[in-house]
Amino acid sequence: MKLFLSLALLAASTAVAGAAPIEAVASFSILGDMVQVVGGDRVHVTTIVGPNADTHVYEPKPSDAAAVAKAQIFFVNGLGFEGWMDRFVQSTGYTGPLIIASNGVKSHTMVDDGATVTDPHAWQSLSNGILYVENISKGLCAVDTDGCATYQANAKKYEAQLGALDAEVKAQIATVPEGKRKVITTHDAFLYFGEEYGVTFLAPVGISTDAEPSAAGVAKLITQIKAEGVSALFIENMSDGRLIQQIASETGVKMGGELYADALSEPNEGAPTYLDMFKHNVALLIPAMARKQA
Ligand SMILES: [Zn+2]
Repeated sequence: MKLFLSLALLAASTAVAGAAPIEAVASFSILGDMVQVVGGDRVHVTTIVGPNADTHVYEPKPSDAAAVAKAQIFFVNGLGFEGWMDRFVQSTGYTGPLIIASNGVKSHTMVDDGATVTDPHAWQSLSNGILYVENISKGLCAVDTDGCATYQANAKKYEAQLGALDAEVKAQIATVPEGKRKVITTHDAFLYFGEEYGVTFLAPVGISTDAEPSAAGVAKLITQIKAEGVSALFIENMSDGRLIQQIASETGVKMGGELYADALSEPNEGAPTYLDMFKHNVALLIPAMARKQA
């Protein structure tokens, strides 16, 4: 009887306080940040693939499965980004809402090693980022109707910030002559950026980092860099930079620094949020594209 009473009291106090946040899981750091901004204080976010880590080749841990098993909502990128996801979700027994943040994005495909694949890196365009925010807000509203007005207000404010940054990025890119807007990175993570902002990105590794670059492909890229006077050469925060270093030494092109491609940085580094990531990347891209090849 005593136990029953205390349990009843506990249940009552939780209901009155209403303080337990919604448990949300996001598959990777960029999406986790977006969910936290939209969710605010009402949502506790657990991110599976953390800062500076590569989602393409990630292997889920038991702690990830435990987080998903107790989640009330689960956010993924989709478009084939998390190749390990279907099997993983099945293994957790999770049956709650699974929100595909890229839903509604105009996706594009590319031919990679002879196969046509969908490019998953849709967040590298800020207008797609706004679509992600809409999907996140709708998802949270469905699991927490009391918080819906808050999520919608947070989303609206965030979308305004993303829209303002989008205009700023376009204005900055416009200062670089069109013929100079060519960039080399490790893998094909910036094709949505390229399409949205009018920059050509080339990479020795394809859409997923799990593929090995071919020697012939790398040789062709080196020839192209020399012939077209490409001056912007970047490593990425979450993939192997050795090939880019090799290309730099073979072409004599100076490295432009490190772009944030598929993951945010640690909190104390250059790109702890989605907005910071975009600002960081554009601040490095502009001078690297604009300079003359050495
Ligand atoms: Zn990638």
